[in-house]
Amino acid sequence: MVVVGAGVIGASCAYYLRQSGLAVTLIDSGQFGRGCSHGNCGFVSPSHVLPLAGPGAIGSTLKTLFKRNSPLKVRWRLDPAMWSWFWQFARRCNKRDAIAAGHAIQQLLVSSRTLYDELFQATLTDVEWDPAGLLFVCLTGPAMDRYAQTNRLLQNEFGVAATRFEGQSLKELEPSLKSSVAGAWRYATDGQLRPDKLMSAWRRRLDSIGVEIRENCALRDLVAERRVAHRILIDRGEIDADQVVIATGAWTPRLHKILRCPIPIQPGKGYSLTMSRPQLCPRSSLMFEEHRVAISPMQSGFRIGSTMEFAGYDSRMNGDRLRLLRESAALYLKEPLQGPTLEEWWGWRPMTPDGLPFIGRLQAFDNVYLAAGHSMLGVSMAPATGKLLAELISGCAPHIDPAPYAVSRGR
Ligand SMILES: Cc1cc2nc3c(=O)[nH]c(=O)nc-3n(C[C@H](O)[C@H](O)[C@H](O)COP(=O)(O)OP(=O)(O)OC[C@H]3O[C@@H](n4cnc5c(N)ncnc54)[C@H](O)[C@@H]3O)c2cc1C
Repeated sequence: MVVVGAGVIGASCAYYLRQSGLAVTLIDSGQFGRGCSHGNCGFVSPSHVLPLAGPGAIGSTLKTLFKRNSPLKVRWRLDPAMWSWFWQFARRCNKRDAIAAGHAIQQLLVSSRTLYDELFQATLTDVEWDPAGLLFVCLTGPAMDRYAQTNRLLQNEFGVAATRFEGQSLKELEPSLKSSVAGAWRYATDGQLRPDKLMSAWRRRLDSIGVEIRENCALRDLVAERRVAHRILIDRGEIDADQVVIATGAWTPRLHKILRCPIPIQPGKGYSLTMSRPQLCPRSSLMFEEHRVAISPMQSGFRIGSTMEFAGYDSRMNGDRLRLLRESAALYLKEPLQGPTLEEWWGWRPMTPDGLPFIGRLQAFDNVYLAAGHSMLGVSMAPATGKLLAELISGCAPHIDPAPYAVSRGR
């Protein structure tokens, strides 16, 4: 069994496949855990059930054409794959599709949250796991009221309810916020971890259970007889494979010829800044609702992250986006963020039009599977993805319904 791509998804797949008794080789074109799984915000968020494609999303996307400092940025290009992606996205920007996708997202989130509780007992240690909840913070009263509607929808449709905090109760709950902040909604179920430490923990665990990890080893081709892959070709050499799992995140569409089908994933570039903890450090993860900026107060550091740029595979670090993160945070937090930056980072989120990952067999093959497209929630969905994929491959009854994640679902 070969798993291609050593991000949080490939690592989770390798773990559950090995647990089911298979010999596993995990390869990566670069280093283990250095893709999008490295510098993200580390939220494990069962509350994030709604996909990006929802009512109002088209309007927000169009507004970004005229707004320089928008957290969402689209660089429109003559790229048929990008236009096709946005067409599929636009078709799903309605309440019915958003709720249907939300239920499928929720299955993976809830299962992963439970699995993480087990994994953090002994399997994955020293990851700075902190189940302190997540606060959605609003600067203005109208934003609080708008969020009240979202909260009602989440409660009625998904049973996910937040607690509202304003005035003195908010000051006591989160003293790091400016008193000008209008209020916040708290999700008690959520938590956070340090993503690079999670990946180090995965590496230690996979090494200890006998998964062979090969870095700087890119998949170049699959050697197949009709529908059955036998070997994978890498830069220098080949590896025998009776089954193959492709977990290459945002890079997956680039493999479409090898996989014999187009994969509707666009790279959604996000940034993060890591620094040391400020004196007045937030007590839990924060999400600044109007600016879509996330704050991760980790035990060994402090991270601001977010922004979503659809700019193809552009690998430049954009200083304006980093400045935007700092400026947005300064509107909400009492203490100015002025310490030295320990890491400036960007990553490509593997964005699908409907917000659901692809987990399942590729139509053109009997033994090649896909686990990619986890959009903004790869850390939060990883364990359930790995477990589900291992169940599908080993023929066990799946612990959640795999149908919504089928690779061949409605295009
Ligand atoms: C700013 C930011 C904040 C985020 N915050 C959160 C958060 O708080 N919570 C959350 O749940 N999610 C968050 N995410 C999303 C999350 O980071 C991603 O969904 C997740 O990391 C995707 O994991 P992956 O394993 O699919 O991809 P990756 O981690 O990118 O791994 C894919 C791997 O495939 C390898 N690869 C590519 N091509 C080949 C090839 N041909 N051969 C071999 N290997 C190959 C790459 O080198 C890479 O290592 C955030 C993302 C960003 C950008």
